[in-house]
Amino acid sequence: MSLLELLFPLRCAACGEPGNELCERCRERLPRLCGPLCERCGAPTAWPVARCLECSGRRIAFASARSALLYAGAVPSLVGAWKERGLRRLAAVLAELVSETIPPPQVKALTCVPAQHERALSRGFHPARALALELARIWELPFVPLLERVGSPRRQRGLALSERSRNVAGAFVTFSGARPPINICLIDDVYTSGATTSACASALRKVGCRRVEVVALARAVRER
Ligand SMILES: [Zn+2]
Ligand SMILES: [Zn+2]
Repeated sequence: MSLLELLFPLRCAACGEPGNELCERCRERLPRLCGPLCERCGAPTAWPVARCLECSGRRIAFASARSALLYAGAVPSLVGAWKERGLRRLAAVLAELVSETIPPPQVKALTCVPAQHERALSRGFHPARALALELARIWELPFVPLLERVGSPRRQRGLALSERSRNVAGAFVTFSGARPPINICLIDDVYTSGATTSACASALRKVGCRRVEVVALARAVRER
């Protein structure tokens, strides 16, 4: 047992029970997205569809998006604890959940949505990158950091869908000179509107990546 574990005994990030990072009871109850989905954006649907109400008519730069969990039930508090408290050890558990639910993507490498500068610096923890590194290990794929943010768009929270897309369009570039592989999987922590992941995919495609698949831990579903 490390000193850190002695000082901060392990608790379940979802319910707070002492034990491990995620207790069995909470793990079993997490709402997994394993039913019929929209092939394109990964929204849960009544039966499998090629496009759904949420994504049809939208320009999306990625080929497909898949998420392991619905952002509901205990998931928001789990994700909140992971992100806000910088629970690094949880990344491995969450990556395991993703790999149990989503088949390995048929790509050459993994990359991740870059952190927002100030927030990443203040916490020194980048959830999407931590998840991508764990998934790279499980799926035996190389992880290549390729994207960075330019400018500082407003926070996405509270913006309408059309505003979100405009807010992040052009907000990402690849590191100068970095050439991405022909197909790549982009990892994110929470898929909300798809605007951020689409802007990232667009930046990757501009420099020669032909196909971008998105994998996220959790997915918010729009109220209608
Ligand atoms: Zn629990
Ligand atoms: Zn869809």
